[in-house]
Amino acid sequence: MTRYAKHFGVYERVRCNTCVDSLAEVQVPGSSASSSTWILSVRTHDSRSQIHAARLIIATGLTNTPMLPSLPNSPAFAGPILHTRTLARDHAALTAPGIADVIVLGGSKSSIDAAYMLATARPGITAHLVIRDSGNGPAWLAKSYATPLKTPLEMLLMRRAVTCFGLPLWDDESVGYTWMRKLLHRTVIGRAVVDAFFAVIKSDMIAGMGLADHPETKKLMPSVDPFFTATSLGIDNYEGDLRELIREGRITVHTADIARLEADTVLLSSGEEVPANAIICATGWQERPNLTLEAPLTPKALGMPYYAIEKDALVARADAEIFARFPKLRSQPPQNPHASHNVTSNPSFHPFLLYKGMVPPAYLSQRNLAYAGFMACIAGPAMWHVQALWMTAFLDEALPVPLPEQGEVEYETVLYSRWSRWRGPQGPGAKHVECVFEALQYLDMLMRQLGLEWWRKGGVVRELVEAYESKDYAGVVEEWMRGRKGTSV
Ligand SMILES: Cc1cc2nc3c(=O)[nH]c(=O)nc-3n(C[C@H](O)[C@H](O)[C@H](O)COP(=O)(O)OP(=O)(O)OC[C@H]3O[C@@H](n4cnc5c(N)ncnc54)[C@H](O)[C@@H]3O)c2cc1C
Repeated sequence: MTRYAKHFGVYERVRCNTCVDSLAEVQVPGSSASSSTWILSVRTHDSRSQIHAARLIIATGLTNTPMLPSLPNSPAFAGPILHTRTLARDHAALTAPGIADVIVLGGSKSSIDAAYMLATARPGITAHLVIRDSGNGPAWLAKSYATPLKTPLEMLLMRRAVTCFGLPLWDDESVGYTWMRKLLHRTVIGRAVVDAFFAVIKSDMIAGMGLADHPETKKLMPSVDPFFTATSLGIDNYEGDLRELIREGRITVHTADIARLEADTVLLSSGEEVPANAIICATGWQERPNLTLEAPLTPKALGMPYYAIEKDALVARADAEIFARFPKLRSQPPQNPHASHNVTSNPSFHPFLLYKGMVPPAYLSQRNLAYAGFMACIAGPAMWHVQALWMTAFLDEALPVPLPEQGEVEYETVLYSRWSRWRGPQGPGAKHVECVFEALQYLDMLMRQLGLEWWRKGGVVRELVEAYESKDYAGVVEEWMRGRKGTSV
């Protein structure tokens, strides 16, 4: 990372060990009400100061503030209660002599990682994976090679032929193969083909992970079809055999809520009593950036998540459009009737609302605020690279396409958010936009807006069957600069 930053001339602009505590917006004196700058209050280990900025890009990450559940009677528990965030730091303590049983809370990849780490640390440690009954159940785990053709998963999902099975909002004629997507998603036969495709993927994932082979591994079988899984998919990248650890009882799986903690025991809602020397919470992350907003700034105006009992008038219109365009999304997977802590079903939760996944609509005309890294996507490095260029062009008022009028921008932003919510209903898609099967078309759309070549493979057949990789987007900044005829970015 450091070498990368030095190579690209970023390093000398970085202030390490500096935390931004709060953010204020100030109007530019004598300007119209819609012209403002930013003041960031920052802190190092021994000083406090302010940074004044004409433009601001928030890139604080989706996974930096741990979400810790409140566990009944937790003061009585004698051992540590930790978050996976500090797993590397706490490894020695968690595997020290005297530790025999560790509870891992959670049903996604990070919980399996923690359980695997403990069970393989040394003989004598049992990891008890507790997947709450009131949540979304286990997330899908897959081998890194998919389909009977054994293609690397990320390569499979970045082939145009395969992305046609997705449901891109960015279904513009110029993206290409529109006829194929119409055939697949808007006809009965096409939808049967799509269903068959995902059935093959599902049975391949189940067989690959051996989920159906043992009563204990069956407990890791997700209830939602892979079609409705976006970025919450995990890859089995373990050196050893995860199934073997589960079959041997070195990892046990419990589907239950924690009813009560005692000094060295965890009582589960199923009635089980599980011995415990420590608890690791693989319970995810706070969705909002960890910045204090100085009044009158609000999360709502900044496009950040917030809780309030209020309706967004555009939601019903967006939902109607989504269900009309993508009939498959009408048949949503059933919600867990016991679900209690789910933002998807919490009517007061309002997700990130960012135009193109980057700009709060209220700041569109000011062009002084954008977000980097608040959209999740299978093709992360390529997407971040192209998004960074789009943001730079946007902030410089150099996008070659005109921006739509404000009302249209607000509607499109809600449309993205609702599409993501219905596309991955039990993952983080309800909090921020995520795309997996549609990542390539999202990139196409940004490239088109930048006036750059988005079909980059050199031939219709190669476009269809060759996977897009990060290297396909190498040089886009130079292409952009050439297109700007010598103007520096
Ligand atoms: C357990 C785990 C496994 C993952 N595995 C993969 C994987 O296999 N493949 C993959 O592609 N992606 C993976 N990801 C996702 C990947 O890590 C993220 O997509 C990526 O790190 C996002 O980069 P980012 O710069 O947006 O955010 P981050 O990497 O979170 O960086 C945010 C930065 O902002 C800083 N920051 C936050 N708040 C403040 C503040 N107030 N003031 C100053 N600085 C602040 C943080 O210290 C941090 O340096 C994984 C994530 C997790 C948590």
